Amino acid sequence: MRGGGLKSCFTNSKKYDFQRWFLIRNGQLLYMKRNNGNSMNDSSQQQSSYSVMISDLRLCTIRPSNDNDRRFVFEIISPNSSHLLQADSQIECDQWINSLQLAITNLFKSSDNGNANSFASLPRMFSDDRPNTFLTAKVEIKQQMIKDKIEYVRSLTGNEKCCDCDADEPEWASINLGILLCVNCGGAHRGLGVSLSKVRSLHMDTWDLETLIVMSELGNTVVNSIYEAHLSNDMKKPNAETDALTRRSYIEAKYVQKAFLRSLPASNQMRSSTRTIKRWSVMKSSISTANTGNENDDDTSHTLKVNNRQLLTRRLTAPSDNDTTTDNPPAIWNMNIYLYEGARHRNVPMMLHALALGADKNFFNEHDHGRTPLIQTILSRSIAAAEFLLTNNAKVNLADEDGRTPLHYATPLANKGRGPIILLLKRGADPLLKDHNGIDACSLSMTIGDPDVITWYRLIALHEQMKQEDADAEKTYISILDDPVYMKEIARTPSFS
Ligand SMILES: [Zn+2]
Repeated sequence: MRGGGLKSCFTNSKKYDFQRWFLIRNGQLLYMKRNNGNSMNDSSQQQSSYSVMISDLRLCTIRPSNDNDRRFVFEIISPNSSHLLQADSQIECDQWINSLQLAITNLFKSSDNGNANSFASLPRMFSDDRPNTFLTAKVEIKQQMIKDKIEYVRSLTGNEKCCDCDADEPEWASINLGILLCVNCGGAHRGLGVSLSKVRSLHMDTWDLETLIVMSELGNTVVNSIYEAHLSNDMKKPNAETDALTRRSYIEAKYVQKAFLRSLPASNQMRSSTRTIKRWSVMKSSISTANTGNENDDDTSHTLKVNNRQLLTRRLTAPSDNDTTTDNPPAIWNMNIYLYEGARHRNVPMMLHALALGADKNFFNEHDHGRTPLIQTILSRSIAAAEFLLTNNAKVNLADEDGRTPLHYATPLANKGRGPIILLLKRGADPLLKDHNGIDACSLSMTIGDPDVITWYRLIALHEQMKQEDADAEKTYISILDDPVYMKEIARTPSFS
């Protein structure tokens, strides 16, 4: 989990006898009377009007309430009192319990480090196993989801060997290239710098589900069909025994000089290649033999090659509305349009190829309302394609010619799945950026009426204010969005069709 807990701040509303805004800060639970919808914009007012409900959370036990009359209620039991608080939904209620537990855990942790006072030695006044069990269960669900996805990535065709030297059982990954590497090639990739290759350990580093979804779309066979397309027979790949210098110069030739890179397909080849995507989408259940041979040297087939396992496991999906213009290749053709088309067709290998060819990840398509590739991935609702661009440093808030950001596009599509919204928020999207009509994503969320989305946007807006008044404020909303409930939502969002 990222963000480091909730020591600094966390807010939400309770709806019980009357509604109030709550905040966890410096080990205390504070509350503020909510005046009206505009009060969130007045940080000076907030600073002055908080009252203390719980002065030291370390002395409290948090647990779900057994109150049968009211839903979404949890209980805070302190030595002197007991408080029942009601959230707007079960998800919010769970998040509150989770967040308070985390805050308490972190308070005790910092006490253990000698950063706090004599309270450290006091036992909890009321012991109850349930909240801890609750928290542990959530952590376990998350860890299992990540573990399953890592195993899936390992099982992709070509991933049983290092992408660059064919050494067995690679344990490292380049997350922006979507490949697995042995320890030696991983070391050489680190030398390329993070703008070219972001290296992680499969078992020692912390993984995001979104990152693994991108890795699932690529894999060594797919990426080598792009980066080693023009590898001549007299140029030998390194092997597990190759010395460091030779290995490094091969890797630099491959990823920096791009000496073996497949060239940009002609625009008329796009017609057949985008048709190929459609055909694959209905062939998935019937393909039974590997499709990774090199006998066909046609550019298009290599560019869009996807390995057998991916074909078998991807969901059978009808072509979306975005595909209606598939058979009309773009009038203007270059690598930026190639990237844009890849985003439109949720085709991560095609996008990887375009970036390798030098496409601008923040390309402003003046022939299509100034939309960016990232906006296209949101319109096609592909977590994999969007995260691929973000991992490769696309700007998350870059707007179109009307000032509309990716979050402006994602918000009205919330009813089709909130995965793209969650992803954008986790990657730093700002819900308060206004378009040229003065509308921000926060106000758009009111019109769609999804209480979770409204809460996230408000939370982030408030977090921004808290950050200004409290330098220690951490990105608490990120830990909320890492909840297994939302991870499953991300996993459900289609990546390819
Ligand atoms: Zn290697």
